[in-house]
Amino acid sequence: MKQVLVTGGSGYIASWVVKYLLEDGYTVHATVRSLSSADKISHLKAMQDQYKGKLKLFEADLLDEGSFQESMEGCDTVIHTASPFFIKGLKDAQKQLIDPALQGTRNVLNSVNATNSVQRVVLTSSVAAIMGDNVDALEKANNTMDESDWNSSSSLSHQPYSYSKTVAEREAWKIAEAQDRWDLVVINPAFVMGPSLSNRMDGTSVQFVRDLVGGPLKSGVPDLTFGIVDVRDVARAHVLAAANKKASGRHILCADTKTFVELAQMLKERFGRTLPLPRGQLPTFMVYIIGPLFGLSWGFLKKNLGVRYKLDNTRSKTDLGVAYTPISDTLCDHVEQMKEAGIIG
Ligand code: NAP
Repeated sequence: MKQVLVTGGSGYIASWVVKYLLEDGYTVHATVRSLSSADKISHLKAMQDQYKGKLKLFEADLLDEGSFQESMEGCDTVIHTASPFFIKGLKDAQKQLIDPALQGTRNVLNSVNATNSVQRVVLTSSVAAIMGDNVDALEKANNTMDESDWNSSSSLSHQPYSYSKTVAEREAWKIAEAQDRWDLVVINPAFVMGPSLSNRMDGTSVQFVRDLVGGPLKSGVPDLTFGIVDVRDVARAHVLAAANKKASGRHILCADTKTFVELAQMLKERFGRTLPLPRGQLPTFMVYIIGPLFGLSWGFLKKNLGVRYKLDNTRSKTDLGVAYTPISDTLCDHVEQMKEAGIIG
């Protein structure tokens, strides 16, 4: 493998993928939506200066048919990470999430079909394509989800982001299985945290950590459980999936599942009272009253509040060789990076 295309190269996860590929000696093509968005691509420009001639940037949009074609020429691997990831402030889920995720996957993979040099596609899917609500895990042995599971509970009106990832991954498998020149390896990360390579604040992961440590949740947090994984481990998994010819199938990436309160406790141990961290868990009745103000519908709360589950990460270790960063290091490194960037006090 010599030349790799990373779609959505300016994103939170993709920026680390680009960095690790360059460190490992690959030539990297990366697409961004606009080459004139200095705030989104200045860190990629710095990588171009550091790795002279090794990183080329292209403009491409998921909804523009054929717009990834030029960036793919001569690449043996395509790492497709670009897909909208946001939950807050959604107005039209079809337009804002489903269309770019699904049509974007078709668009990128149609170009892969038309580019003879491509042998391997690594797709950034999500644990959201494995499960929708936490109650989905109650039907499984030990409440543990694995790669054989598919999210069947999300829809356009309930958890539309999870629905977008599910339909996009299903489409990717369908297109991959209809040919035999290239193979598909899928990465299914849980919620990703850890230091960002840019100072962008529009990403869901970055906003989550800022809210957790910046004060908005200091009166208390709901009893919600999340699967969590370090952004650096996720990026490394993409590079391993690109390099390892024997890698195949889906891979859940999750260091462990934790509650909000457990995350706050980890931060308290490192940062003490220097941050306005959540004081504790909110009573259920209060979560139902104030949840909708934070975008948590009753339908969501009913299927997620207080439900514990696990994600089986065995395949990521045996098939890819992922070694997981402890969650407390992930969180604390993210907070340190935000402090250094002046994002939090
Ligand atoms: P992010 O920073 O918001 O990255 C999303 C990327 O998609 C950005 O590069 C964005 O481009 C690009 N994009 C969005 N709409 C586009 C369009 N219409 N055309 C071209 N590019 C478009 O979020 P992230 O967390 O790194 O997410 C990257 C991938 O990981 C996504 O597929 C997401 O579903 C998946 N994922 C994320 C998590 C997580 O917890 N963060 C967990 C599991 C899976 P711009 O840079 O121009 O905005």
